[in-house]
Amino acid sequence: MSDPYSSFISTGPGRKIARQLGLPQPANLRRYSPGQPLLTGPVLVTGSGAGADALATELLSWDLDIRRHAVPKEKLGAIILVLDELRTPADLEVPVLGVGSSLRDLMPNARVLSVSRTAADAADPAQAAARQGVDGLVRSLAKELRGGATANGVLLAPQTLTTSTSALAALRFFLSGRSAFVDGQFLTVTSDAGSPTLNHDRPLEGKVAVVTGAARGIGAAIARTLYRDGATVVAVDVTAAGQQLAAVVNSIGGTALQLDVTSPDAGQRIIEHAIDRHGRLDIVVHNAGITRDKLLANMDQQRWNSVISINCEAQLRINRALLDSEHFRDGPRIISLASTSGIAGNRGQTNYAASKGGVIGMVQATAPLLAPWGGSINAVAPGFIETEMTARIPFATREVARRLNSLQQGGTPGDVAEAIAFLASDAAAGITGDVLRVCGQNMVGA
Ligand code: NAD
Repeated sequence: MSDPYSSFISTGPGRKIARQLGLPQPANLRRYSPGQPLLTGPVLVTGSGAGADALATELLSWDLDIRRHAVPKEKLGAIILVLDELRTPADLEVPVLGVGSSLRDLMPNARVLSVSRTAADAADPAQAAARQGVDGLVRSLAKELRGGATANGVLLAPQTLTTSTSALAALRFFLSGRSAFVDGQFLTVTSDAGSPTLNHDRPLEGKVAVVTGAARGIGAAIARTLYRDGATVVAVDVTAAGQQLAAVVNSIGGTALQLDVTSPDAGQRIIEHAIDRHGRLDIVVHNAGITRDKLLANMDQQRWNSVISINCEAQLRINRALLDSEHFRDGPRIISLASTSGIAGNRGQTNYAASKGGVIGMVQATAPLLAPWGGSINAVAPGFIETEMTARIPFATREVARRLNSLQQGGTPGDVAEAIAFLASDAAAGITGDVLRVCGQNMVGA
């Protein structure tokens, strides 16, 4: 979808006018394409503990140019703050203020990342305060960075190493162009599970993935991205979208399955199709979703029920079938589309937000049920994404909505797809029951 303002700003005169008038100046985001280097420029890894040393050594093996101390005036591609040994809020001062001046040396599209521990498992209130402080720190810093630079964090559960497979995978995701529209967010690594990715351009080689609502928009982008990353894709959508579905499948191979996700046997049909046609089933992406907006005062039963049924109840029913199936036990992955509306709420969307909040609850409660099979389930919550759905929003509302985030622009369907592809990988096995927002750090709400 087009964003004429961003196109105008990317020209010399446009940039000058925006600067003079103090208008938003959205940067050209560095987005991933196969073969691209992970990032350009040296990476400053700060922190004096054993975890920081181990991480710096590991990152050297990624062919990154690692610095353990800032070199004055040197331009940096990334800063990684290792804060895994915090005991009190006072412990934040030295490492945090220590990188302050280096922030001026960040290149465009640079990354600032924290690696710290979850506050819920702290030994005492002071340690919990220090750990939770990192949350506020990173989210605020994300709002200060410019030029397409982002700040995100990796949270480690107890006993989880800074070099655990999923912690490293999360760091790589955040450093790369795959996370271009993820800003001010955290990924929590709950275990050392997961096998490292051998081919970073095709992390899903040999996997069979089902994507619902794949005929257009975000679903079509997910199907294309999973295919690009090596997966064979089963693209699911309603019969009425058959032509568009066929076009997607024609461009990526795989197979189409015309199916309404609310039908009682949807889970069984998905499993049978994947096994009969492709011999296995590894990944299910619940993307099919609808909006039927109305203020609650004017909400009718049809609007309410259709949204809850498609966006939430269908996923619960399909998951039940997946959990019962012997064909979904080899490190299975489920990724569900939530929405920032389901976290922060949105006027006119009580039904939609209830359904998407429901998805988050479902993901958290389903994670332990998949654990015995080395499985994971996570939600991805998009913010303003440039699709046919958001193109229909009236111009002024749309323009405000797309600028109200730290990156001052809308995301692309591909940005959402990259987050899903990452969570679908074997290396992300230690991340489960989590919610990752792909929203450029929405200013409004949570
Ligand atoms: P879209 O309307 O462009 O596409 C949705 C697809 O789902 C369509 O192809 C539709 O035919 C299919 N679908 C609808 N009901 C179905 C059913 N019962 N069975 C099978 N398929 C069905 O929507 P989109 O903007 O691409 O959104 C995709 C997902 O992302 C949705 O879950 C949506 O709630 C979520 N999301 C989108 C945005 C955004 O900004 N576009 C923001 C947050 C969340």
